[in-house]
Amino acid sequence: MPAALAIRDLYKRYPTGVEALKNVSLEIPEGAFFGLLGPNGAGKSTLIHCTTGLARPSSGSIEVFGHDAVDHYQKARVGVGLAPQEINLDMFLTVEQVLDYHGGYFGMSRRDRAARIKELLEAFSLEEKRKDATRFLSGGMKRRLTLARALMHNPPLVILDEPTAGVDIELRLELWRYIERVNTEGTSIMLTTHYLEEAERMCDRIAFINHGEIVAEGTVPELTAHYGVATLEDAYLALVGREELARA
Ligand code: ADP
Ligand code: MG
Repeated sequence: MPAALAIRDLYKRYPTGVEALKNVSLEIPEGAFFGLLGPNGAGKSTLIHCTTGLARPSSGSIEVFGHDAVDHYQKARVGVGLAPQEINLDMFLTVEQVLDYHGGYFGMSRRDRAARIKELLEAFSLEEKRKDATRFLSGGMKRRLTLARALMHNPPLVILDEPTAGVDIELRLELWRYIERVNTEGTSIMLTTHYLEEAERMCDRIAFINHGEIVAEGTVPELTAHYGVATLEDAYLALVGREELARA
């Protein structure tokens, strides 16, 4: 059985000369809840963009369930639901249209789309907004909608790039709960977040990335043992060289 995501020696240099990823290798087993953690500018979004066709790898390979993300882009892309860090909703579409067009793009039948839209609007408490243009939604509602859109075509791998940045506590907890449920039902998850306590609780594997390199990878106990500390937060502080900030 191929991995949900298999990245080998991924190197990405932007035209500006920035080396955002320096030979990153990473494997996310099917069904995993995988955390990709690291400071701002570490290369997390670049890795995600290379995986989803938004950026072109300079070298190396990326496979989604065995499909090459560059050479077999369409097959690979269908396997991924992406909730990007920057909210990118068409402001003139209604909530319902955002989901419907996305489903259409990924080849869902009209009937399947209607059923799935109903389900997702309910799950994300967006029913009352279904006819509203996205430009009238609050920030939290927009976040919900990008999550719902990521899940719309039932992708076997869902990639969430800082899904809870800037959302209130109750929505954050609600989103985590929903994502955990989706994972329990068999969907593989890759998550980037700065909420380390939640990452510690939810993720079964975590990779630390810094300056475009994977510095450590494993279960939470493996990472804390690697750094000789008690919590994931302390391991993270060791990663970024700020051990003196440890709260213990
Ligand atoms: P993260 O998501 O971990 O915060 P990014 O992948 O966004 O990190 O950025 C990694 C590095 O690549 C940073 O130095 C950032 O400034 C740079 N970078 C990101 N996107 C671009 C781009 N489109 N063009 C040039 N440099 C970029
Ligand atoms: Mg980012």
